[in-house]
Amino acid sequence: SNANLFALFQNSYAGKSERPVIIDPDGTVRYSFGDLEEYTARIAALLTELQVGRGDRVVVQVDKSPEMLFLYLACLRKGVIFIPLNTAYTQEEVRYFLSDATPGLLVCDPEKEPALKQVAADVDVAHILTLDSNGTGSLTDAAAVVKPDEAIEEMADEDIAAILYTSGTTGRSKGAMLTHKNLSSNVQALHQVWQWEPGDVLLHALPIFHAHGLFVGCHLALLNGSPMIFLAKFDLDLVLENLPKATVFMGVPTFYTRLLGDPRFTPELAQGMRLFISGSAPLQAETFTEFEQRTGKRILERYGMTEAIMITSNPYENDARVAGTVGMALPGVSVRVVDDEGQMLPAGEVGNLEITGPNVFKGYWKMPEKTAEEFTDDGYFRTGDLATRSEDGRVTIVGRSKDLIISGGYNVYPKEIEAVIDDLAGVKESAVIGVPHNDFGEAVVAIVVRGPDGKISEEDIIDALKGKLARFKQPKKTFFMEELPRNTMGKVQKNELRQIHRDLFA
Ligand code: ATP
Ligand code: MG
Repeated sequence: SNANLFALFQNSYAGKSERPVIIDPDGTVRYSFGDLEEYTARIAALLTELQVGRGDRVVVQVDKSPEMLFLYLACLRKGVIFIPLNTAYTQEEVRYFLSDATPGLLVCDPEKEPALKQVAADVDVAHILTLDSNGTGSLTDAAAVVKPDEAIEEMADEDIAAILYTSGTTGRSKGAMLTHKNLSSNVQALHQVWQWEPGDVLLHALPIFHAHGLFVGCHLALLNGSPMIFLAKFDLDLVLENLPKATVFMGVPTFYTRLLGDPRFTPELAQGMRLFISGSAPLQAETFTEFEQRTGKRILERYGMTEAIMITSNPYENDARVAGTVGMALPGVSVRVVDDEGQMLPAGEVGNLEITGPNVFKGYWKMPEKTAEEFTDDGYFRTGDLATRSEDGRVTIVGRSKDLIISGGYNVYPKEIEAVIDDLAGVKESAVIGVPHNDFGEAVVAIVVRGPDGKISEEDIIDALKGKLARFKQPKKTFFMEELPRNTMGKVQKNELRQIHRDLFA
């Protein structure tokens, strides 16, 4: 049978094409599944006209719109590899991605077209089309005048559906090649574990250039034949207004802290929501607890990465969701925690998290050596995350191995120190990093964001930590910032912080 992911989605709305798929934030039905079928068939025909076919790449850097989603689905239909880019990337960054991906087509915002035309020409990209935040542009115009192509390309499990560049938190972004099977197996596992129901409605406020919004959010709604209330971005007013109309909400942790910061976010408003899901960055235990106190519901935290989409999830049962943990491996996925020599560690011990399963990617685009390095001899993928696993299989992420600080020969886990600092009155949040140090190898440095009433000083923090943390874990220096540097996915940019402070003890 055809492993094409699009065929799986098409099957879910067969015979129900009048159902809405995209709902505007004001409640208007923007597109039905029948419309989706037609528009994707039109864009598919356009791709053929441009001679972009099976195995060719399309790079897309546009604002979120339903039409961007249709473009993705059209690529699936034709076996074309879809490559979305973060809208924050600059022209020079786009140049790098184009030269790396060598696409047959670039789709960009009309405002960026003049500048990107030159870049595209420099790196031999044959075609450039535009799409703006309203879903209009030369792509839409061209698709309107072709004859729809309803065919669905016959694909095998291991054929590549998309290349997603990793967020670039620990270094230069790598292109993760995801197959039709990676994507279809993962969305089916999530559909089961999160118990999707026929009447579900997804409130969609995440970007769709990233796995979270596209492969978790959109995929689940499409597989379930459900509508999405489609917001261009996280807009607090629009989210509050639309919460009662939806049954599933997905966010990065900052979405939840922003909801909690608004008195309009009441238990009544959250009442009809079947599931609040969080991921992409660690959810603070405090946020989890405060959310439960406010709404009576626990946020379901899950863990994943570009290279494997979703890996673990807290259980569906409300009371089985535990703050600070990311739950159990999804069906079909195996996880293990090993030491640096690859030896399995007993339950509860911190080590390297390795995974295997149908969700694990095919490799990094054009980086065979890097790919080989990240897989063990027995086929497990090294996630680069440090974790513990409990007796009953519950995973807790301790941090990234690249963020591990080795000071005076001792391992220091930033998350442990951050948790203690975050607990202090007058502290909103913190980030702990290691910076080069002559004597210690690395020295522990804390960057602290004060709370609204916060007058807390460096001395206060040192004093407070004295009884709580061993000497070698205590920060040698503390800095204050108005806010931590974060990317669009809410990830703290520790690379940036390390860069700023790298000469501190030099
Ligand atoms: P790069 O690989 O380019 O350095 P990145 O790892 O941030 O960037 P992503 O694939 O977007 O790129 O993010 C995956 C990472 O996000 C995971 O490896 C993990 O460190 C972190 N992460 C995701 N979900 C969670 C979670 N629930 N709790 C803690 N960390 C999480
Ligand atoms: Mg990564």
